[in-house]
Amino acid sequence: MQRIEHLYINGEFVTPHGQEWFDLHNPSTEDVIGQVRLGDAQDAQRAIAAAKDAFAAWSGTTREERIAALGRMRTAMAVREDALTDAIVLEYGAPLERARWMAAYPAQAIALAIDTLEAFEFEEQVGSARVILTPVGVAGLITPWNSNAGFICSKLATALASGCTAVVKPSEMSALQTQIVVEALHEAGLPPGVFNLVNGAGAVVGEEIARHPHVAKLSFTGSSAVGQHLLSAGAATMKRLTLELGGKSPTVVLDDADFPAIMPLVLQAGFLNSGQACIAGTRILVPRHRLAEFERAAQEAVSHIKAGDPRDAGTAIGPMVSARQWARVQNYIRIGIEEGARLLAGGEGRPEGLSAGWFVKPTLFTNASNQMRIAREEIFGPVLTIIAYDDDADAIDIANDTRYGLSALILGQDLERCERMARKLDSGRVLINTLAHEPRAPFGGFKHSGLGREMGKWGMTAYLEPKTLVAQR
Ligand code: NAD
Repeated sequence: MQRIEHLYINGEFVTPHGQEWFDLHNPSTEDVIGQVRLGDAQDAQRAIAAAKDAFAAWSGTTREERIAALGRMRTAMAVREDALTDAIVLEYGAPLERARWMAAYPAQAIALAIDTLEAFEFEEQVGSARVILTPVGVAGLITPWNSNAGFICSKLATALASGCTAVVKPSEMSALQTQIVVEALHEAGLPPGVFNLVNGAGAVVGEEIARHPHVAKLSFTGSSAVGQHLLSAGAATMKRLTLELGGKSPTVVLDDADFPAIMPLVLQAGFLNSGQACIAGTRILVPRHRLAEFERAAQEAVSHIKAGDPRDAGTAIGPMVSARQWARVQNYIRIGIEEGARLLAGGEGRPEGLSAGWFVKPTLFTNASNQMRIAREEIFGPVLTIIAYDDDADAIDIANDTRYGLSALILGQDLERCERMARKLDSGRVLINTLAHEPRAPFGGFKHSGLGREMGKWGMTAYLEPKTLVAQR
């Protein structure tokens, strides 16, 4: 059993002022596998003070110095891929193949920040003015449990590339993974205070970061409810905010689609990350006149999707991260049944043969309307809802009739028609006949899915304040 006691403040592993210990679980067995000691408001204040002290020197570093530091971070993360894969499977329950991808992503995200920094224009002549993009100050980075190391490294690398210093508050449920990241970043040898990390509860450490006057910028990935709260909490100190929040993304199947050919994409989009993905395509919009045919194909395909031990090669869906998340998903399955939707696959309870672990059956509802709660609320588990539409205009109306707007997938044979539809969708990202994305392009959501964008030059700009300089010569 691993006990994680220390926070990382001012270049050192330090004992927290906070006294509370939090249990870490293996979601595949429900066993307690470790404990993390949580920081408190005083610890957060100490980390913020360290980041503030480090800001003047770090924001004055050259592009080359920052690229060198980021390069060391990238190398230190890359050599820990195997350890991180094991921790992701153990503590989060991601299927092995997914876990390997998740463990490789942090180094890739840092490499991307390096590329962005290399090409970034910090100054521009605009008429008689010189416009200088200046780092905003201390950045508070608050991340969720569903891609712990990836979110920490992506946000941190972008913040540091821009010249900001940072305090990270990861999810307390991911402490084993976080510990590997912190040890790597310590090895990278950044100047003390440039990067600090405080494990702790959202309502304690997160709140302190959100209200503290010396934090200039918040970058948050998590639920829309907490995101909305941070928007108002940050207003008192005029924080700059980037919010990456929830989704209820549509997968629009056009009437010319070849169902057997597209079904793997439909299910991968929906069951991505065991359904615990903000971008998951959880509303599947299907032409009404081909609904029965789609239902048959989907039912057949889901029967081959295996939920179970994340270490088994054939597993596509691992457990939910926590008992709370499992209960939440079960509750939504009951709600769907009560609302009158019909179960095509899955349902309540664990998959056959499993008596422990927070496993959910891959679940597919049909006979559903877009007004049902299972079509409107983010479930964050492997539960998908098929909704019939009449024509392309109806499909767009249904796709856009949601408070979210993070991602969308269109599947059809006529690319021009797909692109015409894509332009009408209220979504930060639209994929056509693919799940591949472009990491240098902006990522973020419309409406309640977020505020601002991450990745590439858009992500960097969010940590910078334009300063206009006009001089009489
Ligand atoms: P969450 O909002 O409960 O928690 C996210 C983080 O915020 C955690 O570190 C948590 O401790 C912290 N937090 C909680 N309350 C806080 C408060 N009052 N003040 C400050 N910080 C606080 O979300 P979660 O359950 O960890 O993650 C799942 C959610 O994240 C889903 O809604 C999902 O859609 C969303 N998500 C979004 C994206 C995206 O890029 N858009 C990516 C992944 C997950």
